[in-house]
Amino acid sequence: MAELLKDKNILIMGVSNKWSIAWGITQACFDAGANILLSCQDERTEKTVRELTRNMEGIKIYRCDVTDDEQVKCMFDNIKKDVDVLHGLVHSIAFAKKEELEGAYYNTSRDGYLLAQNISVYSLVAATRYAKPLMTDGEGSIVTLTYLGSERAIPNYNVMGVAKAALEASVRYLAADLGPDNIRVNSISAGPIKTISARGVKDFTSMLKQYEEKIPLKQPVTQKEIGDTALFLLSSLSRGITGENIHVDGGYHILGI
Ligand code: NAD
Repeated sequence: MAELLKDKNILIMGVSNKWSIAWGITQACFDAGANILLSCQDERTEKTVRELTRNMEGIKIYRCDVTDDEQVKCMFDNIKKDVDVLHGLVHSIAFAKKEELEGAYYNTSRDGYLLAQNISVYSLVAATRYAKPLMTDGEGSIVTLTYLGSERAIPNYNVMGVAKAALEASVRYLAADLGPDNIRVNSISAGPIKTISARGVKDFTSMLKQYEEKIPLKQPVTQKEIGDTALFLLSSLSRGITGENIHVDGGYHILGI
């Protein structure tokens, strides 16, 4: 797989530490020869990411809080100065307030609902709008991360499940918009992985335990497996696929529980 993304410029949004799913994707893309561009939420995250990537030659790092339109625009302006073309965009960003990730969904506050949609869904729409004019090489691939809570009522996932449903619908609309430019848009529905975001969901450990006991493939999914699927979606191996949601969860989603 060493040459799969050779000389391709891939922007990955959402690495904050070594547990991040985006970090697994970064490693897979780097090993496949991509030129990596990373965006981090804030100064603290940037510091961690600079440390993580210190032995990875050529990686470019930007700072971007996706709730701020000016920062999103500024990042893409800087990217345009650094690379003449973008081939791939990975959106691995989500957020909901901890208090919205427990109990009954009907208790979701208006603020909490809007915040989850803003950070976890609208950011994909905005990033796509800025990435499109940079995808001028006759091809492009955009990948985002979702979870089964969009399709099923998973305890405590609540407002994030509704945000993921909107994210998956956005993937289909964006795929229809960008198909004529040969830019593909797909999502990966990852099985549960212990990350900072996942720990925000109440009783995440029990959710993980139930998943581990029941998955058909018997092995919980890893960052590396998500990274390899993202690599496939970013590469020309998946050139016939757009608007799709690929479950990388060891088969858990097929179960009738
Ligand atoms: P993570 O905490 O490592 O990543 C979430 C990222 O979102 C962080 O890098 C954080 O900095 C970024 N972010 C949050 N608010 C932001 C803002 N305002 N501006 C810019 N960036 C912001 O956790 P993760 O589990 O790797 O999550 C990545 C994606 O994978 C998310 O979309 C998540 O919903 C999805 N996902 C996770 C799991 C899981 O079990 N961990 C399962 C399925 C899907």
